[in-house]
Amino acid sequence: MENYSSLERDVRDMRAYFGTGKTKEATWRESQLKALRKFLLENEDHIFKALNNDLGKHQVEAFRDEVGTLVKTLNLAIKSLKQWMAGKEAKLPRIALLSSAEIVPEPLGLVLIFSSWNFPFGLSLEPLIGAVAAGNSVVLKPSEMSPACSSLLTSVLPSYLDSNAIMIIQGGPSLGELLLKQTWDKIFFTGSARVGKIVMSAAAENLTPVSLELGGKCPALLDSLTSSWDREVLLLKVAVKRILVAKYGACAGQACIAIDYVLVENSFISTLLPLLKVWIKKMFGENPKGSNSIARIVNKQHFLRLKSLINDDPKVKESVVIGGSFDEDNLFIEPTILVDPPLDSAIMTEEIFGPLLPIITVEKIEDSVGFIKSRPKPLAIYAFTKNKSLQKRMLDETSSGSLVFNDAILQYVADTLPFGGVGESGFGKYHGKFSFDTFSHHKAVARRSYYTDFWFRFPPWTLNKLQL
Ligand code: NAD
Repeated sequence: MENYSSLERDVRDMRAYFGTGKTKEATWRESQLKALRKFLLENEDHIFKALNNDLGKHQVEAFRDEVGTLVKTLNLAIKSLKQWMAGKEAKLPRIALLSSAEIVPEPLGLVLIFSSWNFPFGLSLEPLIGAVAAGNSVVLKPSEMSPACSSLLTSVLPSYLDSNAIMIIQGGPSLGELLLKQTWDKIFFTGSARVGKIVMSAAAENLTPVSLELGGKCPALLDSLTSSWDREVLLLKVAVKRILVAKYGACAGQACIAIDYVLVENSFISTLLPLLKVWIKKMFGENPKGSNSIARIVNKQHFLRLKSLINDDPKVKESVVIGGSFDEDNLFIEPTILVDPPLDSAIMTEEIFGPLLPIITVEKIEDSVGFIKSRPKPLAIYAFTKNKSLQKRMLDETSSGSLVFNDAILQYVADTLPFGGVGESGFGKYHGKFSFDTFSHHKAVARRSYYTDFWFRFPPWTLNKLQL
């Protein structure tokens, strides 16, 4: 086990530093945000290399999902900081004569961030940006499962930041457990529901607020569309490509908002499968194994987990219609499509988190609503349909962290939308201003003049005071 003997003292010192008020200063916050941006820009090549080492991510994907998105978030935070920090005027009831009120955001104190391995920079730094912008001291623990990225974060990033207030520390579950024994003012956790429960029960000891960014099975539905123009143009050129890139083009399906399975009408399968085949070939080549446009599986344990989702169940294996090959030496799994694996099989009851895509057939596409509603609330739902009444039913009748019509994953990069789950997919929201709010306490402040008062607010209580 690693030696973390100074951890308790470090955490104590960080709390004391927060107490000095330094991190509350707008200039301090701005300097740290600018330093974060400088780290990203000056180390872009190292970041791309680390993402390639840990996950086989292509530079384009690494820029789109991590460096580019983070720089955009930082630009917004730097530009908006003063406005976010300013108190917001509020109204008081008329009975409070000569008064004013405002809502003032204040930092929570010393906060802890746990992140996951699939977007090692994005999932570490998006919350860090919010925590720093809100004026907190922060301890960040990236995941041990993306070691090259975590090493870069722990060895290079601290030299850009104020180490009295921001600590980045590398380690696995044993470090996680040790961190959970300390006292925090907020814990922001990205990861599995299993560990989320450990985090939440540790937090309960000190009544520490938590945000849990979890996962689950994100469904998509693909309407067969009505006119032949729709079928040829929208389906051929748009919907299929968007589904494939959302599944295979974002860390090979190892993403919390990746499409987990697709619901389609059974009469539509014969049209859809050839389209999927054509576009998989166009995106990843004749021999996808050699393609550098699809990431690798993070480690052997996850590779074997994914392989067993297919190979351990003969009925699931029989349902593979495209792909299905596994290369253990390179931790590569071919883009794989299955049609109607049993609904009680592991692939349909557990989060897949890899490049395996079950297609589930329904009689009518409207049946998707009931199918989705009967399962835990997902982090995202994607509905590829032009049918307005089906769109309305999805909006009114289903619940999910996000709902996207006719595309997937794009909600992640929108600073204007809150990112987070509901029900089993977690709780708490971040991105853009929502990150600032997640790491702030919104204090209610009211001010009164000494000047005047209504006589009826003071005892002795007499019933005529009610009649006014
Ligand atoms: P995980 O729960 O195994 O690990 C998450 C973090 O917790 C890591 O930093 C890990 O070191 C730490 N940890 C592990 N065991 C611990 C323990 N006993 N005590 C304290 N800390 C501990 O999850 P993972 O494998 O990193 O991520 C996969 C899961 O995360 C999937 O379910 C996925 O959907 C979800 N996820 C969600 C989001 C989101 O934004 N909602 C993003 C990425 C991943």
